[in-house]
Amino acid sequence: MKRISSELKEAKTIAIGGHVRPDGDCVCSVMALYRYLQKKLPQAEIDIYLEEPPAPFHVLQGIEDIKSEFNTDKSYDLFFALDCNDERLGDALPIFRRAKKRVNIDHHISNTGCGDINIVEPERSSTAELLYDLMEPEFVDEEIAKAVYIGIAHDTGVFRYSNTSPHTMQIAADLLKFGFDFSALIEETYYEKTYFQTQIMGRAILGSVRFMDGRCIVSMVSRRMMEFYCVTPKDLDGIVNQLQGVKGVDCAIFMYETGTLEYKVSMRSNGLVDVSKVAVKFGGGGHVRAAGCTMNGTYHDNINNLSREIAAQLPK
Ligand code: AMP
Ligand code: MN
Ligand code: MN
Repeated sequence: MKRISSELKEAKTIAIGGHVRPDGDCVCSVMALYRYLQKKLPQAEIDIYLEEPPAPFHVLQGIEDIKSEFNTDKSYDLFFALDCNDERLGDALPIFRRAKKRVNIDHHISNTGCGDINIVEPERSSTAELLYDLMEPEFVDEEIAKAVYIGIAHDTGVFRYSNTSPHTMQIAADLLKFGFDFSALIEETYYEKTYFQTQIMGRAILGSVRFMDGRCIVSMVSRRMMEFYCVTPKDLDGIVNQLQGVKGVDCAIFMYETGTLEYKVSMRSNGLVDVSKVAVKFGGGGHVRAAGCTMNGTYHDNINNLSREIAAQLPK
């Protein structure tokens, strides 16, 4: 944290936030930084503002300290926005805006930096990886190591996606030396699904449709389906990745209904299409191979609008 050491020295109150519908990298980065700052600055008052993380993340120590109630007039000395820009902070945005100093740490290529201090490095696999390199090693303990490891594992699809660099693996190797049960952690937080999560995934895959000669695939989950299977958006993670795994598919689209004529869109690509560019066109963002946005309109209009952008990028 050398780049922000003077700000840290002066901070008496610190808030940490991440993006709406927090994923593994977001939750773990927030928890790793929380514990790190508690150790480095034992006098400081540190609060976390984040939506309730998915159940498996309750293996992380301190997760119960997360404030999912954003009603506060507090003006913090320092606010850390992790794994997103300010637009995706959700209800934590007013708290971020009120803070005396804002630090943005992220790895999204679409993020131009929303803080007074911006540490945005798109070549990083994850915010957790970037954060780990900012930490002074003497404060890193087993709990921080666990959180950083799971964060990296989630954003790299368990060290499988092309964002996994030799440096990513080097960090993972250093973290394993702490001796935690990495295998169980990955199983519980990444692979294990509830029965209902598995059912809705099956339903979404069954309803998927290929187009553009099989180079694109799309599927949608409506609010009615979510009610029927007793699931919430948190339970839909992983569906788009399954779709992207279909042989011959260059780009996968998954949508779920968030309101009347409103859909949250997730896209994945094998690299031929830069889905971040597609998402940015519709007010979202992300990375070359994984991006998202929210779209208004009917399901079919949204597919038409997305496929126009995708087709313009796909080599014939
Ligand atoms: P998702 O499809 O939600 O799993 O997101 C894929 C990637 O795109 C993740 O890195 C997200 O953080 C990012 N992303 C998703 N939605 C948005 C958005 N509306 N704005 C910016 N980035 C997004
Ligand atoms: Mn994220
Ligand atoms: Mn991330």
